[in-house]
Amino acid sequence: MNNFDFYNPTHIVFGQDRFAELDTLIPADAKVMITYGGESAKKYGTVDKAREALKGREIVEFGGIEPNPHFETLAKAADIAKAENIDFLLAVGGGSVMDGTKFIALAAKDDSGKYQNILFNGFEPVPATEALPLGCIATLPATGSEMNMAGVITYNEQKYPFMSPLTFPKFSVLDPDLTKTLPKEQIANGVADAFIHVIEQYLTQPVNAKVQDRIGEGVLKTLIEDGPVTYADNDDLDARKNFMWSATTALCGSIGAGVPQDWSTHMIGHEMTASFGIAHGRTLAIILPNVLRERKDKKHAKLVQYAERVWDITEGTDDEKINQAINKTEAFFNDLDIFTNLTHYGIDDEGIDRIVNNMEKMGLTALSETGDLTLDIVRKILVATK
Ligand code: NAP
Ligand code: FE
Repeated sequence: MNNFDFYNPTHIVFGQDRFAELDTLIPADAKVMITYGGESAKKYGTVDKAREALKGREIVEFGGIEPNPHFETLAKAADIAKAENIDFLLAVGGGSVMDGTKFIALAAKDDSGKYQNILFNGFEPVPATEALPLGCIATLPATGSEMNMAGVITYNEQKYPFMSPLTFPKFSVLDPDLTKTLPKEQIANGVADAFIHVIEQYLTQPVNAKVQDRIGEGVLKTLIEDGPVTYADNDDLDARKNFMWSATTALCGSIGAGVPQDWSTHMIGHEMTASFGIAHGRTLAIILPNVLRERKDKKHAKLVQYAERVWDITEGTDDEKINQAINKTEAFFNDLDIFTNLTHYGIDDEGIDRIVNNMEKMGLTALSETGDLTLDIVRKILVATK
């Protein structure tokens, strides 16, 4: 296993009926800005429950953070946070609201007049020294944003990841009951996103990282078991709890510590969302099976391990095991009603050109854990996905 630092200070408050504890999680004298999305957090009463728990504090609301949150919306929120002297941010929503709130936290302490600079650091930490503290009430198990330091923001019709140790949430409330109002397709997207977060850290070059591998395999197996149950049955609370904790565990840093990481499926997926508006998790499920088929030789050892330990495939040659495991992965997404061909989404040869050209503009020309997944290979993967 490679050298690593593991740092994750987020306090997780997991379970039903724990809203009242917000009162102890946010300082009593803090002026709080509650951030949320289009309507779900208001419509289903989550913002009101948070307000009730925070009684006695001055509260400002900022709603309207859109999916794949936009720079302009968040810049407006940061200006308001400054003008209102906000002390604490409380994000109520899915990955978009949590990511957006991390951006607001940094921008509210940025006096450079150029909030864009937060976005142009790739996978390097944002060179900031201060951010507003934030907490989350996570309403959509998917991104892991509730327990990591990363965010993804849309700027000039491109998606930009950013990260900073300053944007780890101080706490995140994970109440499985909040997920009951999710439309089914958002459950499917969340299962796919969490699954592929594990895959992009686990299915790389083996470095004998036994703990990381086994945590990853445990999360994948849980998603295979409880993702479809949660998708089909609104009342299975156990499945919902396991799904929720799987999504958080998938991207809180423990699986990716000291191992090579890939992220090429995410980079291609971001471009598909930016160009065609397809939901994040869905883009990943469309792309991943052909990324794995294309990288079969590079990822051979781990693919065999994946086949044997995650899908319990014991018969056949290594190649047969690998093919079966990739086919089962694709069928898993299809069973969640996620179509895995580009034609279904109206993406033709011109669309493929657009994706590849935009990736070139973004400098995404050498992807994967080995840095040799070029744009020619990206094109090949997209053509195979037609
Ligand atoms: P999302 O964009 O936050 O939300 C998708 C939709 O679900 C929204 O329309 C939202 O409606 C609705 N929704 C959320 N919670 C709901 C609930 N409990 N009941 C009913 N509707 C609900 O989806 P997401 O998949 O969580 O986040 C995707 C974003 O996260 C993308 O921008 C992606 O790039 C990013 N991401 C971040 C990380 C990370 O590490 N930080 C990792 C992967 C992806 P309302 O707007 O009405 O609330
Ligand atoms: Fe993701």
